Amino acid sequence: MSTIETAAVDRTALLPASLRDDFPILSEQVGDRQPLVFFDNAASTQRPRQVIDAISGVYERTYANVHRGIHTLSELSTEQYERARTKVQQFIGAARFHEIVFTQGTTASINTVARSWGDARLRPGDEVLLSVMEHHSNLVPWQQAAARTGAVLQHVPLTGDGRLDMDAFDRLLTERTKLVAVVAVSNTLGTINPIVEIIAKAHAAGALVLVDAAQSAPHLPIDVQALDVDFLAFSGHKMLGPSGVGVLYGKETLLEAMPPFLGGGSMINEVRLDRFTPAALPAKFEAGTPPIVPAIGLGAAIDYLEDIGLGAIHRHELQLTRHAYAALSQIEGLRLLGPAPEHRTGLVSFAFERIHAHEFAQVLNDQFGVAVRAGHHCTQPLHALLGIAASTRASFYLYNTIEEVDRLVEGVLAVTRMFAPKGRQRKRRKPDE
Ligand code: PMP
Repeated sequence: MSTIETAAVDRTALLPASLRDDFPILSEQVGDRQPLVFFDNAASTQRPRQVIDAISGVYERTYANVHRGIHTLSELSTEQYERARTKVQQFIGAARFHEIVFTQGTTASINTVARSWGDARLRPGDEVLLSVMEHHSNLVPWQQAAARTGAVLQHVPLTGDGRLDMDAFDRLLTERTKLVAVVAVSNTLGTINPIVEIIAKAHAAGALVLVDAAQSAPHLPIDVQALDVDFLAFSGHKMLGPSGVGVLYGKETLLEAMPPFLGGGSMINEVRLDRFTPAALPAKFEAGTPPIVPAIGLGAAIDYLEDIGLGAIHRHELQLTRHAYAALSQIEGLRLLGPAPEHRTGLVSFAFERIHAHEFAQVLNDQFGVAVRAGHHCTQPLHALLGIAASTRASFYLYNTIEEVDRLVEGVLAVTRMFAPKGRQRKRRKPDE
């Protein structure tokens, strides 16, 4: 890295590297027997021993289906499952226990709102205001809802540095807007969006707000009451928890008024052959056997995150991001996507004109042990606007170190030297997720 200079790191803002010992997977080797550097955290994080133990503890000692059986194990499982709900409630500062609905993930949470609230409330000509940086999970459900209801979708554009254009937001927010659905942190640009301002303005215009918190819940503190947000969605697997569980927060009055989306067991109060009455919240939105063990695992992940503190996690990630940003921005021909580090969480995405993202990902993995994501990261419209088909994304979390960022930079530099001078291109794989 002789050609790259980096600013001094504030080591007092870093978390102790000893917490890596909690994550067994971090001592794995990958590629050509390289120590693993895991920088694909925006896709899914790893789990600490505490979460793994909580999950295996349930399967070893207390597992049964919840709510149904009047027997010891069912009672124990139910108690643990509902305790996890209380942890989520406290984690996001919700006023009421039953405002927390366990879903399969962010995607399922947003689809629930689009199907249930959207189908009941949207009329032809009503508008849903999204942004061009949304993940497909917060685009496609609204495209489907618009096709069903006749509602119209509007999209807030970006400023030149990859932030939301708030002047355009002000123009697009009208009396026709019934819902603003925006991502709190972009999974591609890392941009932290001004959701406090968005919520206040949307409410003043009479619109509700759904926040996609998939990339913010793991990294930044959230207080749904202080925000006054109407709906909030996030996933357990991006915050040290298991896959298969996510959260839909909704204000009690809204969830009460919404019809259930999925029908089946658990979501009913009474069933006749020709009709049913729905259960009370939150069961109304939890049809079928819920994600029992994943939810309990998410509770353990929340305990772990709260022990460290989200403020400390954000400070740590900011150091890594600044370091990565400063170093990568010195590589000639490399285009860093998104705003300056102070406007983003811990991720950096980049594109290089003559080298496909898959080349970076493959060499970084095989020769440097660095796991990054290559593709459109489920933000195809955003990539199209940026004029690229794919990008390479390194996303950080609490267990990553400055030395790992150096490894990434070293690898990126090596790839640019390997491919760029001769303009040589290896056979490309099809860009994917
Ligand atoms: N929104 C954003 C911003 C995301 O980053 C993701 C996951 N990549 C999702 C939604 C979807 O989350 P899940 O796949 O867990 O449903």
